Amino acid sequence: MNDRNPEEYFQSLVTGTDTKVSLADGKYVTAINFDNAATTPPLCSVLQEIIRFAPWYASVHRGRGYKSIMSSDLYEQARDVVRQFVNADKRDVVIFTKNTTESINMLAYALAANGEEQVVLSTDMEHLANDLPWKDKFTVDYIGLTSRGRLSIKDLETKLRTYQGRVKLVAVTGASNVTGYINPINKIAKLTHQYGAKIFVDGAQWVPHNPVDMKPYASPEHIDYLAFSAHKMYAPFGAGVLIGPKETFDNAIPVYQGGGAVGLVSRQTIEWDDPPAKYEAGTPNMMGVLALSTAIETLSRLDLAAIHHYERRLIDYAMDGLSDIPGITLYSSQDGREERVSLISFALAGLHHSQVSEILSQEAGIAVRNGLFCAHPYVEKLLRLSDEEIKYHQNHDDKTIPGLIRISFGLYNNFREIDIFLALLSHVASHCQDYARKYNYVLKPNRCGNQKEAYPFC
Ligand code: PMP
Repeated sequence: MNDRNPEEYFQSLVTGTDTKVSLADGKYVTAINFDNAATTPPLCSVLQEIIRFAPWYASVHRGRGYKSIMSSDLYEQARDVVRQFVNADKRDVVIFTKNTTESINMLAYALAANGEEQVVLSTDMEHLANDLPWKDKFTVDYIGLTSRGRLSIKDLETKLRTYQGRVKLVAVTGASNVTGYINPINKIAKLTHQYGAKIFVDGAQWVPHNPVDMKPYASPEHIDYLAFSAHKMYAPFGAGVLIGPKETFDNAIPVYQGGGAVGLVSRQTIEWDDPPAKYEAGTPNMMGVLALSTAIETLSRLDLAAIHHYERRLIDYAMDGLSDIPGITLYSSQDGREERVSLISFALAGLHHSQVSEILSQEAGIAVRNGLFCAHPYVEKLLRLSDEEIKYHQNHDDKTIPGLIRISFGLYNNFREIDIFLALLSHVASHCQDYARKYNYVLKPNRCGNQKEAYPFC
C-alpha cells in the first residue's frame, strides 16, 4: 500500500466516490454506495488502461493488421493473468464469458452434453444463477442449512453417500450474497472428491474479496470449476470467467455457436476449434477482458488479503452499530470469528424493506439493495416463510413481498459513511411511524418516486 491510511488510499483508486446526488428535500449530498455486492464502480486504473489502449484496439483473432495482432496478444495474455490470480491448473482453460450467470449456464450445458444421467448437488444458499441452470438438465438436490443459516457439511456428506457415486457435481457458492458467509470450500472439495464427484464454485461474491486458490489437480482440495464476474471487481465492462479442465469442454458441443469457434466448416461437417476458442463464438469482448485483467493486476498489487482485512473491519463496525439499534434484526451471525465477505442483510421492524431502501436513498443518498437478492429460497428460509405465504405472494402483485435490506462494502467505503448510515437508521427506527407515512407511496402499485430529476448529469 502507501503510507496514507488505507481508507483514503483505497478511496482514491475508485471512480465516482465524490458524485453528488439529490435528496427528497432537493439538497445534494455525496452519494454513498453500499451496494457493491450487486456491482462495483470501475477502478481508475481500469478506465486509464481502456483509454490508453483504445487507439490500438482492433479485431481479436480475426486479422493480420498490426493492431489486430496486438489486441489478440493482449486478449490471450489476460487468460494467464486470470489463471495466476486464482492459481488455476495448467490443464484448465480460462473461458471469457459475459458474467457468472452465463458461465454457469455454459458449464451446465457442457456437462449435460457429456451425456450421463447424473445428480447435481446445489445448496439452499445459492443465488438463482447457481440453481436454475442445473434444474432442467440434471436431477438436482439441495444441501441443507444449519440452524444458523450456514451450509450443513453433515448434510452434504449424507447426500453424497445417499446418491452412491451418481453425483456428478457439487455446485456451491464461495460466499453468500445474502449472509456474506464464506463456505469452507477446501473442506467441501475434499469431501466431494472422496465420493468421486467434482466441485463447481460460484465465485461471484468470493473472488473479488478474498485470495482464492484453485490448487493443483493432485490436491484433494482442488476446485474443478470456478466462475466469477468482472463487474463485481471494479471492471464493469461486460466480462466474466469460466475455468475448468479443457477435457470437459473438448467433449461437448458449445451452447453458443458461430464464427471464431470453428476450424473449417462445410455443409455437412463442423470442425470445432480447441477450447477456449470453441466456447467464445462471436467477436470477443476485448475491452471487458482488458478491464478485468487490469483490475486483477491492481487488486493483486494492493493485496487481496489486505483488502479483505480492511473490509472485515468495516463489517464488524457496521454490525456492532446495527445491533445497537432497536428493531433491527440481523440475518447473519455477529461472531467475529465467522468467515465472511463484506455484506450484511437485516430487517427493520415497522417498515417494509423497500421503504427502508427508499428512505436511505431519499434522506441521505445511500444506495442499498432490498428484496430477495436473486437467492429466493435462501431468503425464504432465513425469514421462515411458509409455502402458503410464498404462494400468496406469487399470486398477488401487492408490493409487500417479503425480503431484507442488504448493505455491501467495497474497498473504497469508509467508517464515516457507515456513521452517516447508522445515524439515519437510528433516527428512522425511533420515528418509524412518521417515516412509514411519508414513504407509504413505495408500497402502492405503480408507485412513482419523488426523484427530482432522473439524470442530473445530462
Ligand atoms: N452468484 C452470486 C453469489 C451472486 O451474488 C451473483 C450476482 N448477484 C451471481 C451469481 C450472478 O452474477 P452475474 O449477475 O454477474 O451473472
